[in-house]
Amino acid sequence: MNRPSRIPFTDLAAMTGEIAEEVAERWQRIIASSAFIGGRAVADFEAEWSDYCGTTECVGVGNGTDALRLVLTALGIGAGDEVVVPANTFVATAEAVCGAGAVPRFADVSPDTLLVTAESVRAAITPRTAAVIVVHLYGQVVDTAAISTVTGPAGIAVIEDAAQAHGATWGGRRAGSFGVAGAFSFYPGKNLGAFGDSGAVVTSDARLADRVRSLHDHGRVAGSHVRHEVVGTNSRLDALQAAVLSAKLRHLDRWTEARIAIARRYRDAMAGTVFRMAGTRPEARDVYHLAVTRVPDRDEVRRLLDALGVDTGIHYPTACHLHEPYQRFADSPLPVAERSATELLSLPMFPHMSEDQIGQVCEAIRLIHERYAVRGLVHA
Ligand SMILES: *Cc1c(COP(=O)(O)O)cnc(C)c1O
Repeated sequence: MNRPSRIPFTDLAAMTGEIAEEVAERWQRIIASSAFIGGRAVADFEAEWSDYCGTTECVGVGNGTDALRLVLTALGIGAGDEVVVPANTFVATAEAVCGAGAVPRFADVSPDTLLVTAESVRAAITPRTAAVIVVHLYGQVVDTAAISTVTGPAGIAVIEDAAQAHGATWGGRRAGSFGVAGAFSFYPGKNLGAFGDSGAVVTSDARLADRVRSLHDHGRVAGSHVRHEVVGTNSRLDALQAAVLSAKLRHLDRWTEARIAIARRYRDAMAGTVFRMAGTRPEARDVYHLAVTRVPDRDEVRRLLDALGVDTGIHYPTACHLHEPYQRFADSPLPVAERSATELLSLPMFPHMSEDQIGQVCEAIRLIHERYAVRGLVHA
């Protein structure tokens, strides 16, 4: 029998291949100019990214965690303040809050989308709450307008962690443009990824952008190399990474369409099985940074997929507030996040998956479901 080869969880090589030549040309120009920090390449990408997101401002920074932290600091949020974050998120969301000197308060998530809801955010708000960070996790957009019905009257800022949601839209508007600011990561594995670490803050508040611009560059006064107005930090997007991002941005929508098509195939294959995937919502264009499913007896299903040659991941095996450093910020159970963490399983997802690879994953879903049907397993 012809043994099909393993399907990797992700594969960046084909994306890199599509832009390699263009990047080489752009890098030649940067190397010739010696403009490695700041300069034309960074300014160009910042303009392109704010245009793409539908905001007026973009500040390229060192990584997505710094993007969040710099927004918090620029908003004057720090010691004595609380910031609501989802219990189901990558640890960086809460880490950025601590980095700014504030205290994270965890909100539980919806059992359907695994995203925060207006109700779960309301339950986490206290008189000390200064901001809410909504996370468009897995590339699924949070209905930020619904969150604003809770935060708006209380004067609480909404910040978007859009590190997994490049180009995702709600009602036709792009992630990053809903809150006071959006934070992006361009870590290589993200939907728009550099050849190293980098990130960006987008906003349509010019004064907020100016504060982030100063903070991310040693607290410099705009236009001066030698005057410093605040204690800042060094977290800049460099020119070589900016050139990669500009080259990739031209392909992003096509790569996103490929992700959406793969998710559709998975969802079809899961119909009537024990595999569950969050449903589509009419207002949302989710961008499937990850193809996250929920299955009972997850570890066993993971072993079966592995035996069938399908690599998987778990995002995330531990709810954020249950990690040791964050336990002290959580004073009550967050049942949906805690329970779903035992069922989560991420299937292979990358734009250049071949027809054979997609088919092999769908076939594995069906095969495993048959084994499950026999054993009569159901969701908790
Ligand atoms: C990747 C990620 C971050 C952090 O980005 P880095 O560039 O790795 O610092 C923050 N939040 C979420 C949801 C992420 O997925």
